[in-house]
Amino acid sequence: MSEITEMLIRRGFLWQSFEIYGGMAGFFDYGPLGNNTRRAIENLWRKYFVVNERAVEIDTPTIGIEEVFIASGHAESFTDVAIECENCGKIFRADHYIKEKLGIEADETIESVMEILSEYDLKCECGGDFKSPENFNLMFSTTIGPGRGKKGYLRPETAQGMFINFKRLADYFRNKLPFGVCQIGRAYRNEISPRQGVIRLREFNQAELEYFVHPKEKKHPDFDKYRNFTVTLVDKFDQEHNITLGEAVERGIIAHELLAYFIGKTADFLLKAGIDEKRMRFRQHKDDEKAHYAVDCWDAEAYTSYGWIEIVGIADRGDYDLSRHRRYSKEDLSVFVYYDEPVKVKVRRLIPNMKKLGPVFREKTKKIAEMIEKYEGEVGDSIVLNVDGEEMRIDSSFFDFEEKEELIHGERVVPNVIEPSFGLDRITYAILEHAFDTDVVDGETRRVLRLKRWIAPVQVAVLPLLSREPFTSKAEELTAKLKEAGIFTEKDDSGSIGRRYRRYDEIGTPFCVTIDHQTFEDSTITIRDRDTTKQIRVEVEKLVDVLKELLSSERDISEFGEIFKE
Ligand code: AMP
Repeated sequence: MSEITEMLIRRGFLWQSFEIYGGMAGFFDYGPLGNNTRRAIENLWRKYFVVNERAVEIDTPTIGIEEVFIASGHAESFTDVAIECENCGKIFRADHYIKEKLGIEADETIESVMEILSEYDLKCECGGDFKSPENFNLMFSTTIGPGRGKKGYLRPETAQGMFINFKRLADYFRNKLPFGVCQIGRAYRNEISPRQGVIRLREFNQAELEYFVHPKEKKHPDFDKYRNFTVTLVDKFDQEHNITLGEAVERGIIAHELLAYFIGKTADFLLKAGIDEKRMRFRQHKDDEKAHYAVDCWDAEAYTSYGWIEIVGIADRGDYDLSRHRRYSKEDLSVFVYYDEPVKVKVRRLIPNMKKLGPVFREKTKKIAEMIEKYEGEVGDSIVLNVDGEEMRIDSSFFDFEEKEELIHGERVVPNVIEPSFGLDRITYAILEHAFDTDVVDGETRRVLRLKRWIAPVQVAVLPLLSREPFTSKAEELTAKLKEAGIFTEKDDSGSIGRRYRRYDEIGTPFCVTIDHQTFEDSTITIRDRDTTKQIRVEVEKLVDVLKELLSSERDISEFGEIFKE
């Protein structure tokens, strides 16, 4: 077990789920500190992607009915190729096993895996042969209601809950594009053989934004904020660029400004949350890797002890999702977009010839006449209508043409969607790894978690120098005051003060407040900074205000009092 994993378990960040029953791969519990950390990251995300966007947050069920996932394509193709050993019965995800054992990338198709198995005579770890590879659907299925019930699935992403509410959401936004909708919540994927600790989970947390735009307006009013932002990009040809987002768009590396905007915003958020800039990059999907409907797709990746891992996916998904749900639900998932100025167009209408229709089509005449009037498709010698499920060819002698000029105010469009999709667990883990550090203080090696102040699970520790009155009462009084001010605070009076500092350094507590003898003489108190271990003394009266300011900024404690102890 690595030093960081050992620490995360021991101190209550992450625990193996179902531990007392032997555990289960792909499931992790958040202990008190891990839970606070992830929530803090989640709240920061909300600030960036909801409060500061034209966006709203919704919350939909984690169980979905089968229809949703048939329309989305998940029921058919949300699969990985699995290989099962004939001898020991172990099952592996084929592309991962091949990568691990042979170091080559396999396409995620049965044919490609079969070819590699036979070409390299690849065997199981036990020496056994593999059976024929099979597609395995990653969705957990369930039944809703008693008896045979209705088929359902645990959602494999939060996104579908937003697409299927599109009509209501468009209404909410007065049918004005662009608008964003986001959802933060659990997603479930029955991963085949999750062997990467907390990286590949079967139940995990996503924060997804669906940003709906006019297909011809893939821009963002705030792009200037990120135009000169420099990021590391690895393009689909594996070329690395260290360039500004503006330049990346100009050179055609990133498909358009809106995608670049969200790459910039994602980078901004990740850095603010504590991802190390040197261990962050954006990798473009290769043409054979991205979904067939995707226009362009970039993953934010973080370097961890598991190598480079995808922590965010940012994709231009075109109109795929809305068009699919439109087709399967038969609901009109488009919006009417007004032109800046109305335009004059020549409109051709078909006028049904009732005298001719009647004798031929009898009781169906009225219906056919209405359909002819509404017909908007191509017209040749005839048109084809679907009348009560029956295709009927109507000869052009059954209608006349009328052309006139009309003033058109706008048109219906199916919006495109740009989707930044964040894996909160991977982000939390990467941040913890990037924050993990050791240094030497007073000749001793210490472990310190250099978390951003606004992400730390315990932000302030109140430490009475002695565990007796009046120190303990004062500590309790101050702890209550800090909590009242919304600061995550713990009081700790066990062990030497040095040991207590180390304990809080290890879990990333940015500030320790110490009540000492002088506190009772002149009503002052010391604040110790985690990173520098420097201390200042401030008036007890000002403690809450000083800490609030320190916790929401990266200001140095020396700005608030004279350093008296290095
Ligand atoms: P995807 O829909 O596959 O692009 O996933 C979106 C994000 O969810 C990814 O960038 C990951 O951060 C996260 N994610 C996907 N699968 C898993 C998993 N099995 N365990 C943990 N996080 C995941």
